[in-house]
Order: sequence, then structure tokens, then C-alpha cells
Amino acid sequence: MAKIELKHISKKFKDETVIEDLNLTIKDGSFTVLVGPSGCGKSTTLRMVAGLEKQTSGEIWIDDKCVNDTPPGLRDVAMVFQNYALYPTMTVRGNIEFGLKNRGVPRDEREKLVKDISEIVGLTSYLNKKPQSLSGGQRQRVALARAMVKKPKVFILDEPLSNLDAKLRNQMRTELIQLHKRLGTTFVYVTHDQVEAMSMGDEIVVMNKGIIQQADSPMKLYHDPANLFTAEFIGTPAMNMINRKDVQGLDIQKGGSIGYVGFRPEQAIINASAETEGYAIEGEILTRESLGAENIYQIQSRAGIFFIKTFLTALVTSDRVKVTIPYEYLYYFGLSGERLRGIEINTKRLVVAGGIT
Ligand code: ADP
Ligand code: MG
Repeated sequence: MAKIELKHISKKFKDETVIEDLNLTIKDGSFTVLVGPSGCGKSTTLRMVAGLEKQTSGEIWIDDKCVNDTPPGLRDVAMVFQNYALYPTMTVRGNIEFGLKNRGVPRDEREKLVKDISEIVGLTSYLNKKPQSLSGGQRQRVALARAMVKKPKVFILDEPLSNLDAKLRNQMRTELIQLHKRLGTTFVYVTHDQVEAMSMGDEIVVMNKGIIQQADSPMKLYHDPANLFTAEFIGTPAMNMINRKDVQGLDIQKGGSIGYVGFRPEQAIINASAETEGYAIEGEILTRESLGAENIYQIQSRAGIFFIKTFLTALVTSDRVKVTIPYEYLYYFGLSGERLRGIEINTKRLVVAGGIT
């Protein structure tokens, strides 16, 4: 078990700064997910924690020890990567116990560890097989088992499921969540996929361009995004953003200077009853996707194209619709993308510019 702290971490590759003054506490025993677009610095951050990359400045603490000068092998951190890098000529057993042999762990102890851990990851009947005869999911389990036998304080998993097909990926997600529960070890998981992050993490760290945008629980990220980046990054389809100039009646009584008004596709109502109070937009349905339990509409309005998602309702067949977003589901952002809270506006008159025809 371990808590990890990153204090004022920066990382430069030659002259390029890829991480800038990053501060983060990863709670002991948490399943923390680092999520962000490709190239935003997730792997670099984790490689620094593992000791595979040295930060340009700042300190990394694991529990109550600064590990700046601790070599990777002594940090008690195990890393699992996207490409499992198994030894092809060795059996599953050989792969799992390789590190133990290297460390001179006695035979009896090795056998017990391999037995216990292969049971946990469901590999018991594959111990004598070679990696090439295993499926992608089984290979990933071997990589996990190999990391687990070392009984690390921290597990770092860098996009470990990217090479698997969608069905297997879902299954392995569930297995990893269960594994984390069973082990109680700190897991730090990297993905560029926000759905994966939301479904797995109990703490999610959203990164962009080497800077942490928000670190919070999945629910908090979804309901209370700190800025426009997080608001648009979390959720499928993404939060709709309307430019301030396209919103009429936005007389601010209190608050800041609004740049964008956002709303989630699932919080808008199509053809709401007349008494529903909210921001109203009229538009034309461009596409309909019917996924069974939910329908997704792409709608063209005067304020641009936006998406609406409905659950367990009949497909709307008319082309022209009125979309209402109750006022409490509107999010306001400043011109530089910061979330504006405590905005009080004269909501009675809020309509899309040009009015409702
Ligand atoms: P992510 O894992 O979020 O996709 P990375 O941490 O791999 O991002 O990379 C962050 C940035 O650092 C990228 O711009 C990448 O090109 C750069 N980078 C990563 N490793 C190196 C390296 N060894 N040398 C130079 N640049 C690197
Ligand atoms: Mg990466």
C-alpha cells in the first residue's frame, strides 16, 4: 500500500517542456486514472514515478520517502504496458517467475507465489503453455501476473488494454477493478479513453498539454467540471458548447464575463411541454442514431450543430424540434475556458439568438 505525491514536477526533453509544475497526490489504495489526449504527458508522468525517467525538477514521494534518488528496482513499483513484452520461448510459468528467479527467491516460495497468483488471474491451466498459443486477454493476464508476483506497493498500468478488442477490453476492465479490490494496492492507470477512465477510476486526473486540468471523482468531473476542457472531454457525446454571442437575453446580473454556455446532450428535452422553463433552441434533426435503450440526435440550429441524447423514449420522427435545457443544467464558461460559478442571469428571456420561430 502506498501514497504517491508529485511535488512541483517539471519535465523537459531538450528544450521542450512536456510537464509543467505538476502537483498531485495519489491516495493510498486508490484506483487513480490519468486520462488525456495522446501526447499530453501521461506516460512520461508515470515513468517518472516508476523511476524510468528522471524529472527535470521537483520531488516524487512514495509513502513518506522522497524517491528522487531511488533506482527503479528499489521503488516497489510494478509497471504493466500495452505491449506485454512476454518472453516467447518461455512458458507462462517461466514468464511469471522470471523476476523471482533473478532475485534468488527459493524454489518452494516461487512455486507458491506462482500458484496463488495464477489462480487470481485465472491462468492455472495455462502455466505450461507458451505465449503464442494464448489469446490477447490471456497474454495480458500473464503480464499482470508477472507484475503481481513482485508484490509491489504500487501498480502502474499504461494503456494495458489498448491492444484488445472491444468485448475483451470490457471484460478485462471488470477484472482489473475486481483485482484492485482484492489486492487493495494503489493502482495508477493510464488511458486516453475517457469512457474507460470513468468506468474504472475512483479518482480521475484529467491532463492536457502537461497540465492537470482537474483531479476528482468521476461523478464530480461529470457534474462539476472545473473548466471547458474537462467539460468537453468527459461524456459521450461531448457537452454542447454555444458561443455567448448566439445566446440572446444573457443579461448577467452577477458573475463574470461569459464566453460559452454548455449543456449535456442527455440533459436537454425534445419538444418539452410549454411550462418547462429553460434555454430553448429550435432546430432541425440531421441524423438519428437509435441504439435501443438510447437515441442520439444531431441537430442543426442557429447556434450551430449540437447533440441530444434521450433514454428509453420513442424515436422522434419529425424533423423540426424545439429543444429545451432546464436552466439548472446550463454551464457557464469564461472566455479563456474557466468555469464560471455563481452566475445569475435574467433567465426568463434566455433564447437562442434570433428567437424561436
Ligand atoms: P502520452 O502518454 O500522454 O501520450 P507522453 O508522455 O508519451 O504522452 O509524451 C508527452 C510528450 O513528450 C510528447 O510530446 C512526446 O513526444 C514527448 N516525449 C516523450 N518521451 C520523449 C523522449 N524520450 N524524448 C523526447 N520527447 C519525448
Ligand atoms: Mg502514453
